[in-house]
Amino acid sequence: MTFPAARRKTVQISVGRVRVGGGAPVSVQSMTTTNTADADATIQQIKRLATAGCEIVRVTVNNRDAALALREITGKSPIPVIADIHFDHELALQSIKNGVDGLRINPGNIGSRRKVQAVVLAAKERNIPIRIGVNAGSLEKEHLITYGRTPRAMVESALKHIQILEKEGFDQIKVSLKASDVARTVTAYRLLAEKVPYPLHIGVTEAGTLFSGTIRSAIGLGILLAEGIGDTLRVSLSADPVEEIKVAYAILRDLGIRRRGVEMISCPTCGRAEIDVISLANRIEKRLFSVQTPLKIAVMGCVVNGPGEAQEADIGVAGGKNIGILFKKGVLVKRLPPRELEETLIGEIRALTGEEIF
Ligand code: SF4
Repeated sequence: MTFPAARRKTVQISVGRVRVGGGAPVSVQSMTTTNTADADATIQQIKRLATAGCEIVRVTVNNRDAALALREITGKSPIPVIADIHFDHELALQSIKNGVDGLRINPGNIGSRRKVQAVVLAAKERNIPIRIGVNAGSLEKEHLITYGRTPRAMVESALKHIQILEKEGFDQIKVSLKASDVARTVTAYRLLAEKVPYPLHIGVTEAGTLFSGTIRSAIGLGILLAEGIGDTLRVSLSADPVEEIKVAYAILRDLGIRRRGVEMISCPTCGRAEIDVISLANRIEKRLFSVQTPLKIAVMGCVVNGPGEAQEADIGVAGGKNIGILFKKGVLVKRLPPRELEETLIGEIRALTGEEIF
């Protein structure tokens, strides 16, 4: 069984060649951590992210040098690039000129209507969408005074920005409402989902380190996605952004929303364990990270219970003191010395997927 029963219906927009909303697959995003003005370093990081499965990448455009570097970055990026801009409409115009596939800017913070119109016109000409990104940490005074730092305030802020764009006849809109705690994030998205037809970019912001941020994101995004809310997502971690992609796919995979790469089943070990499952499972998971073919694999601690407990796995190994086994769908296919378990399993997966594994 998988989640959700039905996805929320939204209009569809396109970020470069990636469709968002309107029944398109939930896409995975991340953000570079390099100095955007350093085009080489930024392109290198984008390529690593793309290899890991990132489908849309956002770069901060905080000054003129960053906006200028976009020409080279967008020319060489294998995935659509979104410029993240605060306040400065000149940077938005330059970014559009230099080939970005989307903007993240809050129109209410741009300034005069003339400036908003200039950005909207340029976005329309290039047919690129704008994401409105409301963050609980930086809400406008008027909403804070009326509602406090609450989900309602976040939604009111988003609606205000949306209306500014709609007034200019612009509807290529995507919205995010991020807070650093799960409850506010989930409540805000639920509220907004009932009010607007636009696709939602979901995420828990400043979620934390690899450990705590993974848990917080899995809970927050898991709740929303299980309810059919969310069209594109970013997991925010204080870690290498490649880790964000791994976590994002694990969340989508465990909900049955996207199937990509290896799903690992490994036993917690117990007194029956006859091999070191913990180090074997971790080594194998690391080696299989780049595999894209959907596959369920198992690493189990004993030959008596392992194959049965991992019946759903396409392929797996189970340890034994002197003799381990390779099994497929719970059925034994080969006996082999424990020291050969890892390479045999990797070899089988290589043959099954046709992909390179190191
Ligand atoms: S597979 Fe074997 S070792 Fe692993 S938890 Fe089950 S009984 Fe214990």
